[in-house]
Amino acid sequence: MDNIYLSGEIVMKVRNCPICFKNKSSELFRFTYDYLLKVQKVDESFLSFVGFDKDSFSSIVCCEHCDFTYLRENYEWDLKYEDYWKIHGREKPGTKFGRKKSFEERRLGNLANQKIISGLLMLIKPPRDDEYGKSKWLDFGCGDGHVALMAHGINFVEIYGYDINNEKLKGPSRKGLKIFNSIDAVTTNGPYDCIICTDVIEHVSEPRDIISFISDNLCPNGILYVQVPLKTKKQLIKDCINMKKGSLISTYHCGHLNYFSYDNFKEIMNHYGLHSCNVQSIWGGLEFMGDKFFKIISSPNLKSGLLYPPIKLLLGQKYNLHYFRK
Ligand SMILES: [Zn+2]
Repeated sequence: MDNIYLSGEIVMKVRNCPICFKNKSSELFRFTYDYLLKVQKVDESFLSFVGFDKDSFSSIVCCEHCDFTYLRENYEWDLKYEDYWKIHGREKPGTKFGRKKSFEERRLGNLANQKIISGLLMLIKPPRDDEYGKSKWLDFGCGDGHVALMAHGINFVEIYGYDINNEKLKGPSRKGLKIFNSIDAVTTNGPYDCIICTDVIEHVSEPRDIISFISDNLCPNGILYVQVPLKTKKQLIKDCINMKKGSLISTYHCGHLNYFSYDNFKEIMNHYGLHSCNVQSIWGGLEFMGDKFFKIISSPNLKSGLLYPPIKLLLGQKYNLHYFRK
């Protein structure tokens, strides 16, 4: 990792390619102070809190060595959020910033999560020595537990949640979910028949470490359900051109540090012994879920605000993948 120095002081950390660790890259798009403020409507006091001033920038770059696309500078926003809330309070009147989703806003998301859990139930085998025993599941990066809690209490499932954010873990813990806040505890309790990992890999500065850890802690033939935004390389470049023209594209923000393409994601997963499995042939899968959502979306009783996350899902910004460990 390099740092950019200005007048002898560190102004910002610069990240090497998280895939090949080389540092030569070419810029595709630059998040400037003005773009964040005017287009993304990022809160001004938050920018000041993370030390992103008028001359700062974060750029989406393409590695010249391995072609991977990632965020190079000012990439530690996620780590600073909780401290910010402690000082400023969670709610910002009149804005969406920091506001927790209401039950109504979560309804479709909950439905999708329930579908994911029921799909996984069809895939994951009971323990070999006890066909009525419980399979062991882990939600890696469970946050407030909204996915893990869907599986909590199912007869055949023993699910655990792991997250580095202790604040977020309080909620699921109160609801009885068994939680870990240390990586050592995750390993000691493993391996797992099923690992769920949603909205994590794009956020971490060392994605290879996370994928490798997950693979190591998955039983042979265990199932990993992973959700990560994926694009084709062509689409990534096109999006960057549109953002330069002032467009807002929700996949791209300074909390997303890694921008995977369909091809390189698969390649990286394979490298760690994880291979995609075809869930459609077993029971439903993404196509089935997509079809369900089309039906819901066409219902006139739903408010348009509720439809946004599943539409994104359908358009393939979120690509849902099941992997198994060989
Ligand atoms: Zn690289």
